[in-house]
Amino acid sequence: MSPVTVTRRYRFCAAHRLHTDHLTSEENRIVFGKCNNANGHGHNYVVLVTVESDVNGGVVDLEQLDRLVNDTVVRRFDHHDLNGDPEFARCTTTGENLVKLIWELLEPKLPNQRLAKVGVIETRDNYFEYAGSAQPAGGSRG
Ligand SMILES: [Zn+2]
Repeated sequence: MSPVTVTRRYRFCAAHRLHTDHLTSEENRIVFGKCNNANGHGHNYVVLVTVESDVNGGVVDLEQLDRLVNDTVVRRFDHHDLNGDPEFARCTTTGENLVKLIWELLEPKLPNQRLAKVGVIETRDNYFEYAGSAQPAGGSRG
């Protein structure tokens, strides 16, 4: 039987610049295009957090989930420059890296629900999604 999931939507506004010191200025411009602009730019990010229902009760505590996501993700990034976040000292602030970071921040803090998926809408046309690295190969879930 496939699990029932619940998805909640959260929002934050943040600035960033796509740039890596591993590339030359010219290479950065080619790889990241407009997003390499030295002045940076902002996005109204939408974060979609999907959790599986508790195996025991079958009900997700949405208030608890809201508190957790607001404390862990929204407050951390809202009206901040993502490039200044310590987690982005080692990697660029791409949607791919952001969605993985949000997963890594939330996953250990969800005691009763299993985090199933995190989605990040960056622009009208860009959506990033991550469901963790250790997907069980069917059967029992840990
Ligand atoms: Zn951008």
